[in-house]
Amino acid sequence: MKKITLIIFVLISVFSFAWSGHEAFTYYLVQDLVNKDSLIKITDYTYEEDRIYNEEYLVLEDVAGQREFFEPLGDGKFPPDPPPMDNNLPVWQILTIYSPEPDNGMDEGLNLSPLQGLIGNSQGVRHMKYRVGLLVAFEGDKSFMYFVNMSKKAFESGDRYWGYRFLARALHYIEDLSQPYHNAPGTFGELVWAAMNEKMRTILGYAHYFMDDYLVYLLYYSDNSTREAILGAKPVYFKTYYDYVKNVMNYTLSKFSIIHNEIKRIFGEDGLMQRVSIDEMKKKDENGEFYLLKSETLSIISYASSVIKGFLNQFLREVGEIN
Ligand SMILES: [Zn+2]
Repeated sequence: MKKITLIIFVLISVFSFAWSGHEAFTYYLVQDLVNKDSLIKITDYTYEEDRIYNEEYLVLEDVAGQREFFEPLGDGKFPPDPPPMDNNLPVWQILTIYSPEPDNGMDEGLNLSPLQGLIGNSQGVRHMKYRVGLLVAFEGDKSFMYFVNMSKKAFESGDRYWGYRFLARALHYIEDLSQPYHNAPGTFGELVWAAMNEKMRTILGYAHYFMDDYLVYLLYYSDNSTREAILGAKPVYFKTYYDYVKNVMNYTLSKFSIIHNEIKRIFGEDGLMQRVSIDEMKKKDENGEFYLLKSETLSIISYASSVIKGFLNQFLREVGEIN
């Protein structure tokens, strides 16, 4: 059984996954932070870390004004990313531009665990948390907690710039866990079938890809409803920082079946043998085919937005950034 499990992960993880559009998602999320316009002086990186990174892609200098990590499927104009003024950046901009950063290669090509040798994709290990039947794997939730703690350390030492940069990375991982396919790759039966059947592996891989890109479509190319769902979400509060990521994972996983079934119904097996383009999404959307998929996705986005706003308020209050 263990062997089959590992094979499944090998097969499914050849796709490098990322819920896309983090910069736009985060930009809308931070609009009602009370200190979003506070200016933060850019500082150098001076940290000893317990995590290893792919140094080739790890960026430690400030890259404001360069749209360095922005989604290539986006429109190239939004969200704003002005250059620093007198070596200062507003809180909203640090959180926005660094939230997509972990998808840019720093978690890729690493040797993280014995499982790593078999799955051949370290980014997936750090950005997802699979729970399918009795299978539990990967550490997206740990990644969130790691950067919450790094951020806390930075704020406690008076380094507000790195406090917000680490916090932006924490946002990345909790946002990733609001992607249904970051919580499960398919049904248990499909996983068993995928271990033997290449077509099933391909279908599950492109279903995941579609959902990653669908958020970009909703944020950049659809109507205003996603933007309004994020902007209008009211913060909710929990006891511990882990409760925030746990609640996002639980809610998103509870929506997995309905979203997965809708994607299979809309595209059919043949439609999921290749990547779905933004143009194709536009056509299907105009034909009304995304009706249920969209409302279920927006319910996740709205819930995750409430949770992340609550987390930000609580965390920033506890580190003394807001009252
Ligand atoms: Zn990611």
